[in-house]
Amino acid sequence: MHHPQGQTTTTGSRKSETSEHLIEWLRDAHAAEKQSEKMLSMFCDRLESYPGLKVQIRKHIEETRGQAERLETCLKKFGKSESAMKDFGGKLMGMSQSLSGVFVEDEVIKGVLASYTFEHMEIASYRILITAAEACGDTDVAKVCKGILAEEVAMAEWLDEHIGEITEAYLDRANIPGVQAKH
Ligand code: MG
Ligand code: FE
Repeated sequence: MHHPQGQTTTTGSRKSETSEHLIEWLRDAHAAEKQSEKMLSMFCDRLESYPGLKVQIRKHIEETRGQAERLETCLKKFGKSESAMKDFGGKLMGMSQSLSGVFVEDEVIKGVLASYTFEHMEIASYRILITAAEACGDTDVAKVCKGILAEEVAMAEWLDEHIGEITEAYLDRANIPGVQAKH
């Protein structure tokens, strides 16, 4: 993965290193989308009492699958095989651990908290990718990342707009004996 020897200009050398970063960050983003799909699916499957949230999560699962596919297309352009995209275990363990929240009493709240956090991490990662792609002059990758960023921003905004009412609904339900509030 080293850039060619004998590169004469600083710009050329910097560009080569930048594209290595771009590829690495695309792979990280791909791993994050795979993780996100698992996390959201698990959350969505368990939701019973929060239909609006369930619909939105289901929609974002579909978007997330599309995002992973678009990132795969970007990586293939750099000659990265499917197998080269695997094995990111551990990197996102912190996030999956926060999912152990599914076994706690306020599961829906912990799920919304994890999703809100995850979307903002994704927003940051696509902003970084757009900058790196533009630094490489790779307008295709920049365009893909801008498209994905818009979906992440929309999801983060939806959560931002609904986090209050979901919390209120949880608190109301939790106060009524025999009513399922947890998920
Ligand atoms: Mg995503
Ligand atoms: Fe997302």
